[in-house]
Amino acid sequence: MKKYVSILAVTVLLAGCDWNVLQGKNGNSTSNGEQPASQADQSSGQKPSDPDLTLEAAHFNEIVEVKGKKEIANPDNMLVLVNKIYGLPGDYEPEDLVRPKVAFAFGDQDIEKSYLRKEAANALEQMFQAAAKDGIQLYASSGYRSYGRQQALFENEIVQAGEEKASEVVAIPGNSEHQTGLAMDITSESVQFALSEEFGDMEEGQWLKNNAHLYGFILRYPKGKENITGFSYEPWHFRYVGKKASEVIFKHNWTLEEYFDHVSKM
Ligand SMILES: [Zn+2]
Repeated sequence: MKKYVSILAVTVLLAGCDWNVLQGKNGNSTSNGEQPASQADQSSGQKPSDPDLTLEAAHFNEIVEVKGKKEIANPDNMLVLVNKIYGLPGDYEPEDLVRPKVAFAFGDQDIEKSYLRKEAANALEQMFQAAAKDGIQLYASSGYRSYGRQQALFENEIVQAGEEKASEVVAIPGNSEHQTGLAMDITSESVQFALSEEFGDMEEGQWLKNNAHLYGFILRYPKGKENITGFSYEPWHFRYVGKKASEVIFKHNWTLEEYFDHVSKM
């Protein structure tokens, strides 16, 4: 009898464990790229993990609180998650910015917005070459943007549209993905080189939507996911995340926020 009771106690204890794990997983879905270490340990101990959904710890945001704001302490991470919640340090500038050899909407001018981080620039060149082979002529429009430049844009928008409206249209300095040097706005002659929603309906926008993941890019602000990304639909804005993540994100039709909801640390 004594033996029976102790087996029962162990069973109850295990059931309690599983219940806690489930509670933890469901209760901590935070769309943020951060992950409590304990949660990662629990999920990896539970079942063999899907290689698509495991990531090195270095690819998760490390967040520090600076003046009440959540600031990213590892901004060089290729999978850095920058949005309205997580911002970059004001003095962050990538060290490996280069000018990709692609056509630009503004011609050959050597200006800040033509730059991208090296790995993203190489991938952009490959993507533009592949598009050209399919008869699609793409033009890069805006890549890296410094904190100072974002500040100038934001202040200009406040003058134009007022403070409340400004933060809906222009990212607050530090919270623009363009400061990572991993995002490029892309356009075409068919929309007069504008960054407009109609680009998404053009063959150039369609080609990018269907093929960008093959080169490590994702459509960062898709239609219908505005409440998750915090941004309006932007068919022109592509973000480099590397091929492993871009394939998974494309396959599941996720945003970068949703991707981080599903992956766990290796
Ligand atoms: Zn953009």
